[in-house]
Amino acid sequence: MSEKIMVKHFGSCICGAVKFTVNLDEIPRVYNCHCLDCRKTFGGMITIIDLRKGALILEKKNLGTFTQLGGSGNEIKNYYCKTCTAPIFRHVSLWKRDYLFAGLLDNIDLIKNAKNIFYENSHFPFMKINGEKLIT
Ligand SMILES: [Zn+2]
Ligand SMILES: [Zn+2]
Repeated sequence: MSEKIMVKHFGSCICGAVKFTVNLDEIPRVYNCHCLDCRKTFGGMITIIDLRKGALILEKKNLGTFTQLGGSGNEIKNYYCKTCTAPIFRHVSLWKRDYLFAGLLDNIDLIKNAKNIFYENSHFPFMKINGEKLIT
C-alpha cells in the first residue's frame, strides 16, 4: 500500500486571534453543505474539509463553542474565534470527525472539488446544482 501524502497548510481567522496548522491529504475531501441548519447558523452554504484524526493543530484558548443538534439528533459542536466570531471547525458526533471551515486556509488553491450535500430542499436558487455539480 502506498503511503498517504499529507501536506501541511496554514490558516487563521480574520482577526488573527486563532491561527492553525493543518495536515491535509493531497486531495482533501471537501463538502458544501446547504442544509437549513448551516444556513441558519452561518448565514448560507458552508464549505468544510473532512479532517483526519489529529490533523488540526491549534491553541484552544481563543475558541468559543456552540453546540447544536444535527438533523439526526446528534450533537454538532462548533468552535469559533471568541474575538471575531469566525467559525474555525466543528465536531460532528455522529461521524466522530472534525471538519475545518475551508475559507480559513491562507491558500485555497488546493480545493479543486467539493461535493454538494443536503442541497435538495435548501440551496439558493441562483446556484444551479446538477447532481453533485454546481453549475454556476
Ligand atoms: Zn449543513
Ligand atoms: Zn478571530
